[in-house]
Amino acid sequence: MDYKYLFGPVPSRRLGISLGIDLIPHKTCSYNCIYCECGKTTDLTIERKEYVPLKDVLSELDDLLKTHPKLDFITYSGSGEPTLHTGIKEITSYLRKNYPEYKIALLTNGSLFWDEKVRNDCMEIDVVVPSLDSASEKSFKKIDRPHSTLSINKINEGIVKFSQKFPGEIWLEIFIVPGINDTDSEIEKINQEIKKINPEKVQLNTLDRPGIVSWIRSADDEELKQIASKINHHNVEIPKKPAERITSEAYSDDVSGLILHTIQRRPCTLEDIAKISGLHPNEINKYLGILVEDDLICESSGERGIFYSAKNK
Ligand code: SF4
Repeated sequence: MDYKYLFGPVPSRRLGISLGIDLIPHKTCSYNCIYCECGKTTDLTIERKEYVPLKDVLSELDDLLKTHPKLDFITYSGSGEPTLHTGIKEITSYLRKNYPEYKIALLTNGSLFWDEKVRNDCMEIDVVVPSLDSASEKSFKKIDRPHSTLSINKINEGIVKFSQKFPGEIWLEIFIVPGINDTDSEIEKINQEIKKINPEKVQLNTLDRPGIVSWIRSADDEELKQIASKINHHNVEIPKKPAERITSEAYSDDVSGLILHTIQRRPCTLEDIAKISGLHPNEINKYLGILVEDDLICESSGERGIFYSAKNK
């Protein structure tokens, strides 16, 4: 069976061996983040609906999970905001009932938790990883470029309300954009939100693949350590290098080889590789990071976006 809504399992730096469920068409989201690895948001929306057929997602899950794959998590993620899909509660309940051996995670920008229905829909999930890139309106708009109805106060209040009832773990993600949300006053405001949310851990993140604006750069190890030391939380994680992920059991030489082979024929964008290989963009992104780190490919800007070329070795 060819899967349209499942991808991986992929080696995830945060979640180990992760099977992705993508419920949202590319590129539908309530944000248009400057760092988004999936490209520019073309449908900026807060409308919830059944974007992809629920029954097809369940049938793909049945087909794949009947082989009892070894997974650390089944994860709602992909090329848009998963909570925009109205079926997330039903899928979670289905997995709980039929595949209780698997843990479920949700990667979300948290922008819809002001809606009580969305908060209730996510209560049965084991680990929710919401973003908290900012606590001030100015940097929020600069980094996340949200739908016009969303404000940082509304969103952060929603995440706090969710955290007060949610029985699972919250791993709060902060995407560091040097020069915008790493100043002392920004970190101070973020610390106040962390205190209210009281997550199990705080994960710092920074640019891994090129973002959708050219001026954004990655925070280096030293900067991340500095920022981590200013975060008031007992458990702050900083990202591992892509190369360290090769040790993951989910790393596939076949997938890596297929991507490298595609790029060796001609320079390609992420979308080109997805079209040629049939792989999900999120899965491809995981491997591109490792191939860049291994110095086998390089990135350059072109008219259609970031191109990946093979290095002659
Ligand atoms: S919230 Fe996620 S999917 Fe949406 S634009 Fe930001 S990074 Fe991309």
